[in-house]
Amino acid sequence: MTTVTKKIQMVDLKGQYLKIKKEVDAAIAEVIDNTAFINGPAVKEFQADMEKYLNVKHVIPCANGTDALQIAMMALDLKPGDEVITASFTYVATAEVIGLLGLKPVLVDVYPDTFDINIEAIEKAITPKTKAIVPVHLFGQCADMERIMAVAKKHNLFVIEDVAQAIGADYTFSDGNKAKAGTIGTIGCTSFFPSKNLGCYGDGGAMYTNDSDLAAKMKMISHHGQSVQYVHDVLGVNSRLDTIQAAILKIKLQHLDEYAAARNKVAAYYDKAFANHPKLKTPKRVKNSTHVFHQYTLQLNGVDRTALREFLTTKGVPAMIYYPIPLHMQKAYKDDKYKAGDFPVTEKLCASVLSLPMHTELDEETLKYIADSVLEFCK
Ligand SMILES: *Cc1c(COP(=O)(O)O)cnc(C)c1O
Repeated sequence: MTTVTKKIQMVDLKGQYLKIKKEVDAAIAEVIDNTAFINGPAVKEFQADMEKYLNVKHVIPCANGTDALQIAMMALDLKPGDEVITASFTYVATAEVIGLLGLKPVLVDVYPDTFDINIEAIEKAITPKTKAIVPVHLFGQCADMERIMAVAKKHNLFVIEDVAQAIGADYTFSDGNKAKAGTIGTIGCTSFFPSKNLGCYGDGGAMYTNDSDLAAKMKMISHHGQSVQYVHDVLGVNSRLDTIQAAILKIKLQHLDEYAAARNKVAAYYDKAFANHPKLKTPKRVKNSTHVFHQYTLQLNGVDRTALREFLTTKGVPAMIYYPIPLHMQKAYKDDKYKAGDFPVTEKLCASVLSLPMHTELDEETLKYIADSVLEFCK
């Protein structure tokens, strides 16, 4: 087996930065030079670039992805006690904001092959109190938005897409029309956390919508509920994207499609290396969405995951578990009515998934080393 000299990382932010260092450093210096730290010109410029890239009417930048979800739900006037349906297999932020606003998170299971929210389960979970569905495009591939939108329309529900992991993914409808992830539902919410596919150098997030009234409302809520300075029409929050982050994102947005292509090359390498392996299930690709591979997540079958991770650690190969504990088994969310066994697919996934290094700077030699290391243990 070959050895690699460079330290292998889950995400190589430094390597990615070095390739655009000159532009990024100049952009940061310019913001500092102009001391335009809050709402400087780069924020509006990035917003306009994003609107164009996503082909959506409005992008409203904010401080992080969790805030984006919260502001979206505040703008939809959801009231305490209203039910919001989301997936049991996701990052905690999705359910957290539902609870914070006094709304009731109603969890449903996911599909075993795509990790996305189970649409039959959504339909079963709908009650007269249901107001919204929050599909999560987990790991970088869109949930089946056409079917989700049909369910939402039938029951008059809002759809908030959690697109934190799938920025830039393309969804194709059955009539051939295409739309970017996050621009299909009522509102899309994303994160620019450094390790996300479009990551800044700190925290950042945004909401997207084609509804101009909602856009105005989200903008107002993110600025202390203020329409005109010192006039506060609704309860708001303080959630802004820093100008320095916007300046960095403006540059990185120009590379986003390249980054997605690099991630897809990594995924294709892993797919081939692990194809038809009896103990390793590679992630399924669906026909109606491109995959931007925020994560490359294997499902292990008959492999001791802890031992495999330890083995990989000795080889210098990091591997992560997204996510180890299902939401319904978390202390903070353990509503009385949920118990072990309620979401069998989620529980099985939490016990069997393993994500491998996935980023834009992986070369073939490193990929071979990673794949060979996994295969050596899973003989
Ligand atoms: C990262 C993430 C968020 C939250 O984003 P932050 O910017 O960290 O607040 C929300 N949902 C999902 C699915 C995520 O992966």
